Amino acid sequence: MNFFNRNMIIYKTAEEIEIMREAAQIVSRTLGILASEIKPGVTSLYLDKIAEDYIRSQNAKPGFLGMYGFPNTLCMSINEQVVHGIPTDRALKEGDIISVDCGALYEGFYGDHAYTFEVGEVHPEIKKLLQVTKECLDLGIAQACVGNRIEDIGWAIQQHAEKHGYGVVRDLVGHGLGRTMHEDPQVPNYGRRGRGKKILNGLTIAIEPMINMGAEKVKTLSDEWTIVTADGKPSAHFEHDIAVVDGKPEILSTFKYIEEALAKK
Ligand code: MG
Ligand code: MG
Repeated sequence: MNFFNRNMIIYKTAEEIEIMREAAQIVSRTLGILASEIKPGVTSLYLDKIAEDYIRSQNAKPGFLGMYGFPNTLCMSINEQVVHGIPTDRALKEGDIISVDCGALYEGFYGDHAYTFEVGEVHPEIKKLLQVTKECLDLGIAQACVGNRIEDIGWAIQQHAEKHGYGVVRDLVGHGLGRTMHEDPQVPNYGRRGRGKKILNGLTIAIEPMINMGAEKVKTLSDEWTIVTADGKPSAHFEHDIAVVDGKPEILSTFKYIEEALAKK
């Protein structure tokens, strides 16, 4: 599927970036609420309803619902599912991981970010995958500076993931974000230093490493949505929304609400 129907980057004004920050923060608060709900026995459909109700209470709309025909508010991907999993009545089990990707449309702009949660106690090797994927996100964000180019982001993500022996998903990428969920430029999680479009002030992008414990190869399930690792090993996904302001990356979304909720568990 080609999500990109524009061939130019739409740079945002300071006012537009402020609205995007609010859209991103609605998603951040939604993920914070889900963080306290995720435990063994809970279903992804139950979590989806909580997210939809909260987003609507914030004068926003679920960003994914109906987009390209997606049936729900959240993409919820368990264990070997990489992204785009459809919520179901399958109960989460101790030791699972679940990647929750959430979008919100607020005052004409989208927020879109994601976090992979642990369900109960997970295997230390899986904990490490989550930790390294989160570090990949931070390293990618740090490259989103004026003076760099788009592939510098993916280069930083790829070299950190591969240093740990992990596979970097190639078939899905980060993206520009604004009045549409997916706009130019594509932001791959791999790349060569100094290649791609120049990073300029006003660029707004979602950076979202999808990192596999095993090989990079993925496939799509027969529901035509769920992407899984070809080797069946677990995969992690963390995503933030970034604006380039005064030459530097500003993170519009936050994991603060998630971290506060997890600390109370
Ligand atoms: Mg997302
Ligand atoms: Mg995204």
